[in-house]
Amino acid sequence: MDELETLAIHAGEEADPSTGALRLPLHMATTFKLPPFGIKLFDALTMESARAPHAYTRWSNPTLRALEDRLSALEGAQAAVVTATGMAAVSALVFTFLSSGDHLIASEVCYAGSVELFALHLPRFGIQVTLVDTSDAEQVRAALRPNTRMIYAETPANPITRIADIAALAQIAHGAGARLAIDSTWAGPVNQRPLALGADFVVHSLTKYLNGHGDALGGAVLGHLDDIQRIRKEMLVHLGGALSPFNAWLILRGLITLPMRCERHNASGLEIARFLEAHPKVSRVFYPGLESHPHHELAKRQMSGFGGMISFQLKGRLGAAITLAEKVRLFSYATSLGHAHSLLFYYPTDLYVDAAPYLSSEHKRRIHEWTGQGIVRASIGLENVNDLIADLDQALNARTLKGLAGPAAYGLLKRFGK
Ligand SMILES: *Cc1c(COP(=O)(O)O)cnc(C)c1O
Repeated sequence: MDELETLAIHAGEEADPSTGALRLPLHMATTFKLPPFGIKLFDALTMESARAPHAYTRWSNPTLRALEDRLSALEGAQAAVVTATGMAAVSALVFTFLSSGDHLIASEVCYAGSVELFALHLPRFGIQVTLVDTSDAEQVRAALRPNTRMIYAETPANPITRIADIAALAQIAHGAGARLAIDSTWAGPVNQRPLALGADFVVHSLTKYLNGHGDALGGAVLGHLDDIQRIRKEMLVHLGGALSPFNAWLILRGLITLPMRCERHNASGLEIARFLEAHPKVSRVFYPGLESHPHHELAKRQMSGFGGMISFQLKGRLGAAITLAEKVRLFSYATSLGHAHSLLFYYPTDLYVDAAPYLSSEHKRRIHEWTGQGIVRASIGLENVNDLIADLDQALNARTLKGLAGPAAYGLLKRFGK
C-alpha cells in the first residue's frame, strides 16, 4: 500500500461519499458554509489545526487538500502546502522563515527566478544572502555565519545539472541551527527523496514533471507539519499565492502516471545523453547518469533515477545552436521542462551568466566551467526515443547557417533585453 505507483493513484482521494464517484469532484467553490459559533468556526478562522474545516479557498479547499495529501505521501512528508506556482512556493518559504538580519546561503546556480529573488530582492528586506557552489559542501560550510538561518540548494541544478550532497548539507545546516531547503523539481519524488536524506523542506514546481502535461502552473513546499502550517497561516494567507483548484485537479490527474512517466524519462534521458556524448557535433554533455558527469558517484548514491534533463555544449557554439533550434521538428524550441513534449532551449553564457549583476567574477569563473560559451538544455519527453534521437541527429547534422540572420537577431535580443 505504500509503493509509489499505488500512492500516486490512491493517496488523497477516496470515492466521493455522496455519489460514489471514484475521482474526487473538482471543488471550485471559493467559500464554505461554517457552523455559526463554537470551536469549529474558531478552528476554521484561526487554522490552529492543519485539518481545520475549510473556510476560504486561499487558505484551504478539498481539492487542494487532496493534492497536498498525495504529494505528502509521495515525498514521505508530514505535510504539504500547494501554491499558485513554483515561485510562489519559493517566496512563501523564504518570507516565512527569514527576517531582517538573517542570513541565507543559496546555490549560485538555481532556477533564474529563485536566484534573482534571493540575490536581488531579499537584501532589500535586510536579509543577507551568500551565493556559493552548493555542490561543494566545504564552500557551504565556509559561508556559515552566526545568523545563518537557511541553506537553499537546487539539485540537480537548473540548467547545468550540478548535484548537491543533500545529507552533507543537512548536517552542516543542522550543526549551525539552520534549516535545509531542497528544490527537487528536476528529480521529483520518484528519483530523489530529500526529506529522507535530512532536508527540512522540499520545494517543487508542480508545473514540471509532477503535473507532466504542460497545462497547469503550480508549486508546493513539503516538510514538518508545524513548519508547513506556519507557511499556510503566515504567507499563503498574507502573500496570497494560492493554487487554483482547477489546476490542483489537473495536477492530481497528472500525478497518477508520475511513476510510469518517470521511468520513461529516465530511460530515454540516459539513452539520449549517451547518443549526444558520442555525437561529433557535441563537445560536452552533462547528465547525472553519465560516468563523465563530475558528480556521477554522488548522483548514484543519492538518486534512484537520473531524470530527463540533459545539458550539452555544441562544438559550433552559437551558430550551431541557432541551426539546431531551427531544424528540430519533434523537439520544440521552448522554455520549461518535464512535459510529455520534448523541449530544448539555448542559454548563451554571455546573456545568462556574464550579464547577471549578482554574480561575482569568481562565481562566473566557476559556472563557465560548466557552460562554456553556452549550453543547450533539453527536456526529454515521452515520445519514442528513436524518433527523438533521429530528430536530434538530423538537426545537429544540418548545415550551420552561414548568414547573419540568427546571430544578428541574437545581437538585438542582447541589446533590448531578454
Ligand atoms: C520552473 C522551476 C521553478 C519555478 O516554477 P514555476 O512553476 O515556473 O513558478 C523553480 N525551480 C525549478 C528548478 C524550476 O525548474
